[in-house]
Amino acid sequence: MEVVDVIVAGGGVCGLVTAREIAASGLRVTVLEEDLEIGIPEKCGGLISVKALTSLGLFPSRKIVKNEIKGAVVYSPLGSKVEVEATKQRVIVLDRREFDRELAHIAERYGALIEVGQRVSSIKAEDKLVKVETERHERSAKILVDARGISSLKHGRQSGFLQAAQYDVYGSWFERDRVELYLDNRVAPGFFTWVIPLDDGIARLGVAGKGMNPIKFLDGFVKDHKATVIKKIVSPIYVGGASENFIHGNIVVVGDAAGQTKPTTGGGIFTGGMGGLLAGRAVSNSLLLNDPSALREYEVEWRRIFGKEFMVMSQARKIYEKLENEGIERLFKTVASSNILERLEDKADFDYHSIGIFQILAMMKEDPSLALELMKLGAEVILELFKISLKVPKE
Ligand SMILES: Cc1cc2nc3c(=O)[nH]c(=O)nc-3n(C[C@H](O)[C@H](O)[C@H](O)COP(=O)(O)OP(=O)(O)OC[C@H]3O[C@@H](n4cnc5c(N)ncnc54)[C@H](O)[C@@H]3O)c2cc1C
Repeated sequence: MEVVDVIVAGGGVCGLVTAREIAASGLRVTVLEEDLEIGIPEKCGGLISVKALTSLGLFPSRKIVKNEIKGAVVYSPLGSKVEVEATKQRVIVLDRREFDRELAHIAERYGALIEVGQRVSSIKAEDKLVKVETERHERSAKILVDARGISSLKHGRQSGFLQAAQYDVYGSWFERDRVELYLDNRVAPGFFTWVIPLDDGIARLGVAGKGMNPIKFLDGFVKDHKATVIKKIVSPIYVGGASENFIHGNIVVVGDAAGQTKPTTGGGIFTGGMGGLLAGRAVSNSLLLNDPSALREYEVEWRRIFGKEFMVMSQARKIYEKLENEGIERLFKTVASSNILERLEDKADFDYHSIGIFQILAMMKEDPSLALELMKLGAEVILELFKISLKVPKE
Protein backbone atom coordinates (compact mmCIF):
# COMPACT_ATOMS: atom_id res chain seq x y z
CA MET A 1 0.00 0.00 0.00
CA GLU A 2 1.16 3.52 -0.89
CA VAL A 3 2.41 5.43 2.19
CA VAL A 4 3.05 9.19 2.15
CA ASP A 5 3.98 11.56 4.96
CA VAL A 6 0.69 13.46 4.89
CA ILE A 7 -2.68 13.14 3.15
CA VAL A 8 -4.88 16.24 3.07
CA ALA A 9 -8.56 15.37 2.57
CA GLY A 10 -10.19 18.35 0.82
CA GLY A 11 -8.65 20.74 -1.72
CA GLY A 12 -10.32 24.00 -0.65
CA VAL A 13 -8.42 27.06 0.59
CA CYS A 14 -7.53 25.57 4.00
CA GLY A 15 -6.41 22.18 2.69
CA LEU A 16 -4.31 23.79 -0.02
CA VAL A 17 -2.61 26.23 2.38
CA THR A 18 -1.82 23.29 4.68
CA ALA A 19 -0.41 21.28 1.75
CA ARG A 20 1.69 24.24 0.58
CA GLU A 21 3.34 24.57 4.01
CA ILE A 22 4.01 20.83 4.27
CA ALA A 23 5.38 20.51 0.73
CA ALA A 24 7.58 23.58 1.30
CA SER A 25 9.28 21.73 4.15
CA GLY A 26 10.22 18.92 1.77
CA LEU A 27 7.76 16.30 3.01
CA ARG A 28 5.57 14.14 0.75
CA VAL A 29 1.97 15.37 0.77
CA THR A 30 -1.04 14.34 -1.30
CA VAL A 31 -4.27 16.37 -1.52
CA LEU A 32 -7.44 14.39 -2.30
CA GLU A 33 -10.30 16.53 -3.61
CA GLU A 34 -13.70 15.02 -4.36
CA ASP A 35 -14.75 17.61 -6.94
CA LEU A 36 -13.52 17.33 -10.49
CA GLU A 37 -11.99 20.82 -10.50
CA ILE A 38 -10.15 22.89 -7.87
CA GLY A 39 -12.08 26.07 -6.98
CA ILE A 40 -15.40 24.84 -8.38
CA PRO A 41 -18.15 25.18 -7.17
CA GLU A 42 -17.36 28.65 -5.77
CA LYS A 43 -19.32 28.67 -2.50
CA CYS A 44 -18.12 32.01 -1.17
CA GLY A 45 -18.62 35.77 -1.23
CA GLY A 46 -14.85 36.21 -1.51
CA LEU A 47 -14.54 39.20 0.86
CA ILE A 48 -11.16 39.45 2.56
CA SER A 49 -8.80 42.23 3.65
CA VAL A 50 -5.47 42.69 1.88
CA LYS A 51 -3.82 42.32 5.30
CA ALA A 52 -5.43 38.90 5.80
CA LEU A 53 -4.52 37.81 2.29
CA THR A 54 -0.86 38.66 2.81
CA SER A 55 -0.88 36.88 6.19
CA LEU A 56 -1.78 33.76 4.22
CA GLY A 57 1.29 34.35 2.06
CA LEU A 58 -0.47 35.70 -1.05
CA PHE A 59 -0.51 39.08 -2.79
CA PRO A 60 -3.56 40.83 -4.23
CA SER A 61 -2.66 40.15 -7.87
CA ARG A 62 -5.02 41.10 -10.70
CA LYS A 63 -5.59 37.44 -11.40
CA ILE A 64 -7.24 36.68 -8.05
CA VAL A 65 -8.84 40.06 -7.17
CA LYS A 66 -12.20 40.85 -8.74
CA ASN A 67 -12.90 44.17 -7.05
CA GLU A 68 -11.88 46.56 -4.28
CA ILE A 69 -14.45 47.71 -1.72
CA LYS A 70 -14.50 51.22 -0.27
CA GLY A 71 -17.31 50.84 2.25
CA ALA A 72 -20.72 49.47 3.10
CA VAL A 73 -24.28 50.72 3.10
CA VAL A 74 -26.28 49.07 5.87
CA TYR A 75 -30.10 49.10 5.72
CA SER A 76 -32.53 48.70 8.63
CA PRO A 77 -35.75 46.67 8.25
CA LEU A 78 -37.72 49.89 7.56
CA GLY A 79 -35.15 51.17 5.05
CA SER A 80 -33.08 53.64 7.14
CA LYS A 81 -29.47 53.46 6.12
CA VAL A 82 -26.03 54.12 7.57
CA GLU A 83 -22.86 54.31 5.52
CA VAL A 84 -19.63 52.82 6.77
CA GLU A 85 -16.28 53.85 5.30
CA ALA A 86 -13.74 51.04 4.91
CA THR A 87 -11.13 52.49 2.56
CA LYS A 88 -8.40 52.20 5.19
CA GLN A 89 -9.18 48.54 5.79
CA ARG A 90 -8.46 47.67 2.13
CA VAL A 91 -11.14 45.06 1.58
CA ILE A 92 -11.13 43.15 -1.70
CA VAL A 93 -13.36 40.62 -3.42
CA LEU A 94 -11.60 37.46 -4.50
CA ASP A 95 -12.24 35.37 -7.55
CA ARG A 96 -12.45 32.19 -5.47
CA ARG A 97 -11.87 29.90 -8.45
CA GLU A 98 -8.64 31.69 -9.38
CA PHE A 99 -7.61 32.07 -5.73
CA ASP A 100 -7.96 28.34 -5.01
CA ARG A 101 -6.17 27.49 -8.26
CA GLU A 102 -3.34 29.86 -7.39
CA LEU A 103 -2.95 28.11 -4.04
CA ALA A 104 -3.02 24.71 -5.76
CA HIS A 105 -0.36 25.87 -8.22
CA ILE A 106 1.95 27.10 -5.44
CA ALA A 107 1.48 23.88 -3.43
CA GLU A 108 2.17 21.83 -6.58
CA ARG A 109 5.33 23.83 -7.34
CA TYR A 110 6.60 23.02 -3.85
CA GLY A 111 6.01 19.34 -4.62
CA ALA A 112 2.49 18.57 -3.36
CA LEU A 113 0.55 15.97 -5.33
CA ILE A 114 -3.03 17.08 -6.03
CA GLU A 115 -5.65 14.59 -7.17
CA VAL A 116 -9.16 15.69 -8.14
CA GLY A 117 -12.18 13.41 -8.39
CA GLN A 118 -10.99 11.52 -5.29
CA ARG A 119 -13.69 11.36 -2.63
CA VAL A 120 -12.35 10.23 0.76
CA SER A 121 -14.89 7.68 1.92
CA SER A 122 -13.20 6.34 5.03
CA ILE A 123 -10.49 7.45 7.47
CA LYS A 124 -9.14 4.98 10.04
CA ALA A 125 -6.38 5.79 12.53
CA GLU A 126 -4.28 2.65 12.99
CA ASP A 127 -1.35 2.71 15.41
CA LYS A 128 1.32 4.82 13.64
CA LEU A 129 -0.50 5.30 10.31
CA VAL A 130 -3.86 6.61 9.12
CA LYS A 131 -5.61 4.51 6.46
CA VAL A 132 -7.54 6.53 3.89
CA GLU A 133 -9.96 5.03 1.39
CA THR A 134 -11.25 6.55 -1.82
CA GLU A 135 -13.37 4.77 -4.43
CA ARG A 136 -10.34 3.56 -6.35
CA HIS A 137 -7.50 3.49 -3.83
CA GLU A 138 -6.50 2.63 -0.33
CA ARG A 139 -3.50 4.51 1.00
CA SER A 140 -1.80 5.39 4.25
CA ALA A 141 -0.15 8.45 5.72
CA LYS A 142 1.71 9.28 8.90
CA ILE A 143 -0.71 12.18 9.42
CA LEU A 144 -4.11 12.92 7.92
CA VAL A 145 -5.31 16.51 7.65
CA ASP A 146 -9.09 16.76 7.51
CA ALA A 147 -9.93 19.87 5.43
CA ARG A 148 -13.27 18.63 4.07
CA GLY A 149 -15.15 21.81 5.00
CA ILE A 150 -18.46 21.88 6.83
CA SER A 151 -19.27 18.34 5.68
CA SER A 152 -16.83 17.22 8.41
CA LEU A 153 -18.42 19.14 11.29
CA LYS A 154 -20.22 16.80 13.64
CA HIS A 155 -24.01 16.43 13.38
CA GLY A 156 -24.41 17.53 16.99
CA ARG A 157 -23.35 21.05 15.92
CA GLN A 158 -26.54 21.73 13.89
CA SER A 159 -27.43 24.78 16.00
CA GLY A 160 -24.39 26.62 14.57
CA PHE A 161 -25.56 26.33 10.96
CA LEU A 162 -27.51 28.91 9.01
CA GLN A 163 -29.36 28.19 5.78
CA ALA A 164 -27.77 30.25 3.00
CA ALA A 165 -27.77 30.84 -0.73
CA GLN A 166 -25.88 33.17 -3.01
CA TYR A 167 -26.66 34.25 -6.59
CA ASP A 168 -24.45 36.04 -9.09
CA VAL A 169 -26.71 38.70 -10.60
CA TYR A 170 -26.75 41.42 -13.21
CA GLY A 171 -28.44 44.52 -11.78
CA SER A 172 -28.22 48.28 -11.63
CA TRP A 173 -29.26 49.34 -8.11
CA PHE A 174 -25.90 48.89 -6.30
CA GLU A 175 -22.66 50.90 -6.40
CA ARG A 176 -19.53 49.35 -7.86
CA ASP A 177 -17.42 49.68 -4.69
CA ARG A 178 -19.97 49.49 -1.80
CA VAL A 179 -21.16 46.31 -0.17
CA GLU A 180 -24.84 46.44 0.82
CA LEU A 181 -26.13 44.75 3.96
CA TYR A 182 -29.85 44.47 4.75
CA LEU A 183 -30.64 43.69 8.39
CA ASP A 184 -34.06 42.21 9.08
CA ASN A 185 -34.40 39.54 11.72
CA ARG A 186 -37.81 38.46 10.38
CA VAL A 187 -36.45 37.84 6.89
CA ALA A 188 -32.98 36.55 7.79
CA PRO A 189 -33.04 35.52 11.49
CA GLY A 190 -29.61 35.98 13.06
CA PHE A 191 -27.93 37.16 9.87
CA PHE A 192 -28.54 39.44 6.90
CA THR A 193 -28.85 39.84 3.15
CA TRP A 194 -25.68 40.95 1.34
CA VAL A 195 -24.74 42.43 -2.03
CA ILE A 196 -21.06 42.20 -2.94
CA PRO A 197 -20.31 44.06 -6.19
CA LEU A 198 -17.88 42.37 -8.57
CA ASP A 199 -17.86 45.12 -11.19
CA ASP A 200 -20.28 47.63 -12.69
CA GLY A 201 -23.67 45.91 -12.91
CA ILE A 202 -22.64 42.51 -11.53
CA ALA A 203 -22.75 41.37 -7.91
CA ARG A 204 -22.98 38.45 -5.54
CA LEU A 205 -26.35 38.61 -3.82
CA GLY A 206 -26.72 36.35 -0.80
CA VAL A 207 -28.79 35.71 2.27
CA ALA A 208 -28.44 33.50 5.35
CA GLY A 209 -30.54 32.95 8.43
CA LYS A 210 -31.79 30.40 10.92
CA GLY A 211 -34.64 28.22 9.68
CA MET A 212 -35.28 30.35 6.58
CA ASN A 213 -35.80 29.48 2.93
CA PRO A 214 -32.96 31.43 1.28
CA ILE A 215 -33.95 30.54 -2.30
CA LYS A 216 -37.52 31.75 -1.89
CA PHE A 217 -36.28 35.01 -0.40
CA LEU A 218 -33.57 35.62 -3.05
CA ASP A 219 -36.00 34.84 -5.89
CA GLY A 220 -38.31 37.55 -4.50
CA PHE A 221 -35.41 40.01 -4.05
CA VAL A 222 -34.25 39.44 -7.64
CA LYS A 223 -37.77 40.05 -8.96
CA ASP A 224 -38.20 43.26 -6.90
CA HIS A 225 -34.83 44.60 -8.10
CA LYS A 226 -35.33 43.54 -11.71
CA ALA A 227 -32.08 41.60 -11.62
CA THR A 228 -31.00 38.68 -13.80
CA VAL A 229 -29.55 35.58 -12.14
CA ILE A 230 -26.56 34.00 -13.88
CA LYS A 231 -25.47 31.59 -11.16
CA LYS A 232 -26.98 30.05 -8.01
CA ILE A 233 -25.29 28.29 -5.12
CA VAL A 234 -26.89 26.90 -1.98
CA SER A 235 -24.67 26.08 0.99
CA PRO A 236 -25.02 26.43 4.76
CA ILE A 237 -22.84 28.88 6.67
CA TYR A 238 -21.38 27.88 10.04
CA VAL A 239 -21.28 30.44 12.88
CA GLY A 240 -21.24 28.12 15.91
CA GLY A 241 -17.63 28.67 17.02
CA ALA A 242 -14.45 26.62 16.81
CA SER A 243 -14.38 22.90 17.67
CA GLU A 244 -13.10 21.90 21.10
CA ASN A 245 -10.16 19.93 19.68
CA PHE A 246 -8.35 20.32 16.37
CA ILE A 247 -6.05 17.35 16.91
CA HIS A 248 -7.11 13.73 17.39
CA GLY A 249 -3.98 11.56 17.55
CA ASN A 250 -2.51 11.67 14.05
CA ILE A 251 -5.61 13.32 12.54
CA VAL A 252 -5.49 17.13 12.33
CA VAL A 253 -8.59 19.18 11.47
CA VAL A 254 -8.43 22.60 9.76
CA GLY A 255 -10.70 25.31 8.34
CA ASP A 256 -14.48 24.97 8.22
CA ALA A 257 -14.05 21.33 9.29
CA ALA A 258 -12.73 22.67 12.63
CA GLY A 259 -15.40 25.39 12.91
CA GLN A 260 -12.81 28.12 12.22
CA THR A 261 -15.32 30.56 10.65
CA LYS A 262 -16.05 33.90 12.32
CA PRO A 263 -19.15 33.58 14.52
CA THR A 264 -20.27 37.05 13.40
CA THR A 265 -20.15 36.87 9.59
CA GLY A 266 -19.29 33.25 8.82
CA GLY A 267 -16.14 34.46 7.02
CA GLY A 268 -13.53 31.72 7.05
CA ILE A 269 -10.91 32.39 4.38
CA PHE A 270 -8.60 34.19 6.82
CA THR A 271 -9.34 32.43 10.12
CA GLY A 272 -9.51 28.96 8.53
CA GLY A 273 -6.63 29.73 6.16
CA MET A 274 -4.51 30.64 9.18
CA GLY A 275 -5.58 27.30 10.65
CA GLY A 276 -4.17 25.64 7.52
CA LEU A 277 -0.95 27.64 7.68
CA LEU A 278 -0.32 26.92 11.36
CA ALA A 279 -1.34 23.27 11.01
CA GLY A 280 0.95 22.81 8.00
CA ARG A 281 3.94 24.17 9.92
CA ALA A 282 3.18 22.12 13.04
CA VAL A 283 2.68 18.92 11.00
CA SER A 284 6.02 19.52 9.25
CA ASN A 285 7.83 20.15 12.53
CA SER A 286 6.28 17.12 14.13
CA LEU A 287 7.38 14.80 11.28
CA LEU A 288 10.79 16.35 10.70
CA LEU A 289 11.66 16.32 14.42
CA ASN A 290 9.90 12.99 14.95
CA ASP A 291 8.04 14.63 17.84
CA PRO A 292 4.25 14.03 17.92
CA SER A 293 3.86 16.66 20.66
CA ALA A 294 4.94 19.39 18.19
CA LEU A 295 1.50 19.05 16.57
CA ARG A 296 -0.04 20.84 19.57
CA GLU A 297 1.70 24.07 18.57
CA TYR A 298 -0.96 24.44 15.83
CA GLU A 299 -3.87 24.48 18.24
CA VAL A 300 -2.08 26.56 20.88
CA GLU A 301 -1.11 29.22 18.35
CA TRP A 302 -4.51 29.36 16.60
CA ARG A 303 -6.28 29.80 19.94
CA ARG A 304 -3.74 32.43 21.02
CA ILE A 305 -4.58 34.49 17.92
CA PHE A 306 -8.31 33.80 17.62
CA GLY A 307 -9.56 32.24 20.89
CA LYS A 308 -10.72 35.43 22.67
CA GLU A 309 -11.70 36.97 19.34
CA PHE A 310 -14.14 34.12 18.69
CA MET A 311 -15.54 34.38 22.26
CA VAL A 312 -16.27 38.08 21.77
CA MET A 313 -17.79 37.50 18.33
CA SER A 314 -20.04 34.76 19.74
CA GLN A 315 -21.28 37.13 22.45
CA ALA A 316 -21.97 39.83 19.85
CA ARG A 317 -23.90 37.23 17.81
CA LYS A 318 -26.05 36.47 20.87
CA ILE A 319 -27.03 40.14 21.13
CA TYR A 320 -27.88 40.30 17.45
CA GLU A 321 -29.90 37.05 17.47
CA LYS A 322 -32.02 38.37 20.35
CA LEU A 323 -32.81 41.66 18.61
CA GLU A 324 -36.33 42.12 17.26
CA ASN A 325 -36.68 44.42 14.25
CA GLU A 326 -37.81 47.22 16.61
CA GLY A 327 -34.47 46.88 18.42
CA ILE A 328 -32.57 47.07 15.12
CA GLU A 329 -34.46 50.29 14.25
CA ARG A 330 -33.55 51.76 17.68
CA LEU A 331 -29.93 50.77 17.10
CA PHE A 332 -29.91 52.59 13.74
CA LYS A 333 -31.33 55.73 15.41
CA THR A 334 -28.67 55.55 18.14
CA VAL A 335 -25.91 55.17 15.56
CA ALA A 336 -27.30 57.99 13.38
CA SER A 337 -27.55 60.42 16.32
CA SER A 338 -24.07 59.68 17.70
CA ASN A 339 -20.54 59.83 16.34
CA ILE A 340 -20.01 56.06 16.82
CA LEU A 341 -19.19 55.44 13.16
CA GLU A 342 -16.64 58.24 12.80
CA ARG A 343 -14.92 57.04 15.95
CA LEU A 344 -14.94 53.46 14.73
CA GLU A 345 -13.57 54.29 11.29
CA ASP A 346 -9.96 54.51 12.44
CA LYS A 347 -10.11 51.62 14.90
CA ALA A 348 -12.39 48.97 13.38
CA ASP A 349 -10.66 46.00 11.85
CA PHE A 350 -12.21 43.81 9.16
CA ASP A 351 -10.55 40.70 10.59
CA TYR A 352 -10.66 41.30 14.34
CA HIS A 353 -14.21 42.38 15.15
CA SER A 354 -13.50 42.52 18.89
CA ILE A 355 -11.50 45.73 18.33
CA GLY A 356 -14.63 47.55 17.10
CA ILE A 357 -16.81 45.93 19.75
CA PHE A 358 -14.44 47.00 22.55
CA GLN A 359 -14.30 50.49 21.09
CA ILE A 360 -18.09 50.69 21.44
CA LEU A 361 -17.81 49.48 25.05
CA ALA A 362 -15.26 52.24 25.71
CA MET A 363 -17.68 54.80 24.26
CA MET A 364 -20.41 53.46 26.56
CA LYS A 365 -18.20 54.18 29.55
CA GLU A 366 -17.90 57.82 28.45
CA ASP A 367 -21.48 58.37 27.34
CA PRO A 368 -24.19 57.20 29.82
CA SER A 369 -27.07 57.84 27.38
CA LEU A 370 -25.39 55.65 24.73
CA ALA A 371 -24.74 53.05 27.44
CA LEU A 372 -28.41 53.05 28.44
CA GLU A 373 -29.57 52.70 24.85
CA LEU A 374 -27.17 49.84 24.07
CA MET A 375 -27.88 48.05 27.37
CA LYS A 376 -31.52 47.78 26.25
CA LEU A 377 -30.31 45.54 23.40
CA GLY A 378 -29.14 42.84 25.79
CA ALA A 379 -27.86 43.87 29.20
CA GLU A 380 -26.49 40.44 30.23
CA VAL A 381 -24.55 39.96 27.03
CA ILE A 382 -23.09 43.46 27.13
CA LEU A 383 -21.98 42.87 30.72
CA GLU A 384 -20.43 39.59 29.56
CA LEU A 385 -18.57 41.51 26.83
CA PHE A 386 -17.26 43.93 29.46
CA LYS A 387 -16.01 40.98 31.52
CA ILE A 388 -14.26 39.46 28.50
CA SER A 389 -12.76 42.86 27.58
CA LEU A 390 -11.09 43.00 30.99
CA LYS A 391 -9.43 39.64 30.29
CA VAL A 392 -8.14 40.54 26.81
CA PRO A 393 -4.50 41.59 27.01
CA LYS A 394 -3.93 45.20 25.87
CA GLU A 395 -1.32 45.48 23.12
C1 LIG B 1 -22.48 31.61 0.75
C2 LIG B 1 -21.14 31.76 1.42
C3 LIG B 1 -20.48 32.97 1.39
C4 LIG B 1 -19.23 33.11 2.04
N1 LIG B 1 -18.59 34.30 1.97
C5 LIG B 1 -17.38 34.44 2.56
C6 LIG B 1 -16.65 35.67 2.45
O1 LIG B 1 -17.10 36.63 1.80
N2 LIG B 1 -15.43 35.76 3.08
C7 LIG B 1 -14.91 34.71 3.80
O2 LIG B 1 -13.81 34.86 4.37
N3 LIG B 1 -15.57 33.54 3.90
C8 LIG B 1 -16.78 33.38 3.29
N4 LIG B 1 -17.43 32.18 3.37
C9 LIG B 1 -16.80 31.07 4.11
C10 LIG B 1 -15.66 30.47 3.28
O3 LIG B 1 -16.12 30.16 1.99
C11 LIG B 1 -15.16 29.20 3.99
O4 LIG B 1 -14.89 29.49 5.34
C12 LIG B 1 -13.88 28.67 3.33
O5 LIG B 1 -14.08 28.40 1.98
C13 LIG B 1 -13.48 27.39 4.07
O6 LIG B 1 -12.46 26.74 3.40
P1 LIG B 1 -12.19 25.18 3.68
O7 LIG B 1 -11.04 24.83 2.86
O8 LIG B 1 -12.18 24.93 5.14
O9 LIG B 1 -13.51 24.46 3.16
P2 LIG B 1 -14.05 24.38 1.68
O10 LIG B 1 -13.72 25.59 0.90
O11 LIG B 1 -15.50 23.98 1.82
O12 LIG B 1 -13.23 23.17 1.06
C14 LIG B 1 -13.46 21.85 1.44
C15 LIG B 1 -13.10 20.99 0.26
O13 LIG B 1 -13.21 19.62 0.65
C16 LIG B 1 -13.82 18.89 -0.39
N5 LIG B 1 -14.40 17.69 0.20
C17 LIG B 1 -15.49 17.58 0.99
N6 LIG B 1 -15.69 16.29 1.33
C18 LIG B 1 -14.69 15.58 0.77
C19 LIG B 1 -14.34 14.21 0.76
N7 LIG B 1 -15.06 13.29 1.42
N8 LIG B 1 -13.25 13.81 0.08
C20 LIG B 1 -12.47 14.71 -0.61
N9 LIG B 1 -12.78 16.03 -0.65
C21 LIG B 1 -13.85 16.45 0.04
C22 LIG B 1 -14.82 19.84 -0.97
O14 LIG B 1 -15.18 19.48 -2.29
C23 LIG B 1 -14.06 21.17 -0.91
O15 LIG B 1 -13.34 21.42 -2.08
C24 LIG B 1 -18.68 32.01 2.73
C25 LIG B 1 -19.35 30.78 2.76
C26 LIG B 1 -20.56 30.65 2.11
C27 LIG B 1 -21.27 29.33 2.14
